[in-house]
Amino acid sequence: MLWPGIIKLGKELQLKKTGSEVVGMVRNCFVKMYDGQNMKILELLVPDMNDSDKEYIVNKLEINKVKKHEWLEYGVKIIFNEYFWPYSIEKIKNILMDFVDYFSVNYSGQKIRCPKCGIPKDLEAYCVNNATLIICEDCYESFENEINETNLEKKFAPPNYLFGFIGSLVYSIPGVLLTVLLFVFFNTLAAITSVLYVFLGIKGYKRFNGKVSQFGLIIIIISTIIMVGFGIVVSYSIFILKELGEINIELLLLILKVPEIQQEIIKNIILSYVLSGFYLVFQVIQMMKEWKTEKSIEKARDI
Ligand SMILES: [Zn+2]
Repeated sequence: MLWPGIIKLGKELQLKKTGSEVVGMVRNCFVKMYDGQNMKILELLVPDMNDSDKEYIVNKLEINKVKKHEWLEYGVKIIFNEYFWPYSIEKIKNILMDFVDYFSVNYSGQKIRCPKCGIPKDLEAYCVNNATLIICEDCYESFENEINETNLEKKFAPPNYLFGFIGSLVYSIPGVLLTVLLFVFFNTLAAITSVLYVFLGIKGYKRFNGKVSQFGLIIIIISTIIMVGFGIVVSYSIFILKELGEINIELLLLILKVPEIQQEIIKNIILSYVLSGFYLVFQVIQMMKEWKTEKSIEKARDI
């Protein structure tokens, strides 16, 4: 997340913006800033760092009463806690510029190692589906090719609906067990458990490599409808058998045909459909977003 303070500072330093961070090179250091919960965070990647550099940083932070920092592989992450008021942007700027000056003097002419290939190079910030990625030009190119290939694979993936359907059914079984358990042992038919079927069904569909498409959605909906109904009918059946005290399928079928019992089962199934339906719609919207957005990589934008 970005609040105006960091954006203003980013602008001043001619940095760029990714989804939720202000990023860019300042001399031979790479700067990354963002707002967290009650804190501002500054990450600084430097060409190299030895113990005396670390000591310098720690001293400087102590003087400025900044209590929290973490070492990165080639850099430092500084956390400016904000209790009542936002942390002064001017102070952050002074600390940042002090460190940048220090490293540009002590490591003059040296470049930062690319986090991906490890070679010291000019780095750039990219947005990969809203996340920031800091890499060199070569790594960017290979990454872009990789992304294009994955997108193509996704697009031309062979239809795997049957497996998806099976996966969706199989994964919903724990949902059925929970419905049965609640009903048989606690005498409550919690329609809310049907929400679990949706969740598990989607998980199973994906796990069994069901093809991601509109038809895939229909399959998930069908599987949820089947499993929710199945769970309730099984629960009633086990409940009735428990009452009978014997496994008498013929008698069970007769009892299930009693209009009052049928009505109650249908009433419960409908209630479960309504509840899981809301959740299903929510999940479908999420999935549509996920499926429609192809993975993409783009350069950080100007502020
Ligand atoms: Zn690289």
